[in-house]
Amino acid sequence: MNTTPLTLDEIYNLAHDCLTQNGADQANADALSNTIMTAERDGSHSHGLFRLPAYVASLRSGKVKGNAAPKAEQVTPALVRVHGDNGYAPIAHEVGIPLLAEAAKNLGVGVLAISHVHHMAALWPEVEALAEHNLVGLACTPYMPAVAPAGATKPLFGTNPLSFAWPRPGKSPVVFDMATASMAMGEVQIAAREGHDVPMGTGLDKNGAMTTNPNEIADGGVLLPFGGYKGSAIAMMVELLAAGLVGENFSFEAKEGDNGDGGPPQGGQFILAMSPAMIATDNWDDHCEGFFNKLTGLDGVRLPGERRHKNRLSDAPRQINTPLVEKIRSLMD
Ligand code: NDP
Repeated sequence: MNTTPLTLDEIYNLAHDCLTQNGADQANADALSNTIMTAERDGSHSHGLFRLPAYVASLRSGKVKGNAAPKAEQVTPALVRVHGDNGYAPIAHEVGIPLLAEAAKNLGVGVLAISHVHHMAALWPEVEALAEHNLVGLACTPYMPAVAPAGATKPLFGTNPLSFAWPRPGKSPVVFDMATASMAMGEVQIAAREGHDVPMGTGLDKNGAMTTNPNEIADGGVLLPFGGYKGSAIAMMVELLAAGLVGENFSFEAKEGDNGDGGPPQGGQFILAMSPAMIATDNWDDHCEGFFNKLTGLDGVRLPGERRHKNRLSDAPRQINTPLVEKIRSLMD
């Protein structure tokens, strides 16, 4: 692959310049560039600079506001609602996460219901931010229909990511962050390009038949949830928490209201924070360290989040796909 080495500062500045030249104000560009830079820093390549052209498309079409000013409402001591003002999600997190953390530290538990945002990033930053306060975090968001519920042959669920962080005082938290689709459609397309099969259960062909041929999934077929009906239930839970409970669009509704500019649709996000210090009381961290020791003592096991946290330690330039860098630069001409 043809790559261009960029330092983390260069990645941040490239994103920032591109966003401000395409309609984002300083505050929105700061929040989004930081999300993009930290994704590249951690090796979350699918949600770093790769997404910048789509972010720009939605700024240019006017679907997403580049000067969004999200507003928080403390509905009850445990419930914070943030209206995202139709901006990208990271600036809504800047407004809502500190209030959520405060609520959970004081009460043991807190909920952040975010509406009117456009989320196209990884979901680990919001739950890791809670873990920094020694809180457990759980977050999810719907998207647009891309995944057929178990038993169906047509898409209804989004790729519906779910993230979870467990704090470990003095150490990096344990974090998983995953789509509930068996595989991203982008990865299916890469498998098609490279000529290798995908595992059975990844998706259906256009006639609704199971296939391992990525071309048949990409060409009018549909993705399936991971783990059959069990993953389907979790994808449904994401729709219910982040749309039904938050009072925002389900994935199918998000698509109906979307202008098809390639950027993320309007939707909501559900974030839950819990305090182990209040719920489990004394010694919760040592107790859980014992569990993590048992877990990692088993051959072949590694903790989720470890790969990213190792990547984070390096301040070396990141190798960015050169055609992508050129494309981003062309968006500033
Ligand atoms: P992966 O399948 O790559 O990884 C899922 C999780 O599993 C990660 O936390 C990863 O940790 C962990 N993991 C991977 N391999 C192992 C292993 N061998 N042992 C233990 N843990 C492991 O992620 P997805 O492709 O499902 O999702 C990628 C990203 O896409 C996510 O960040 C998600 O939020 C984002 N997304 C965002 C959407 C949106 O609308 N905003 C929609 C869909 C996805 P590690 O990172 O350490 O490898």
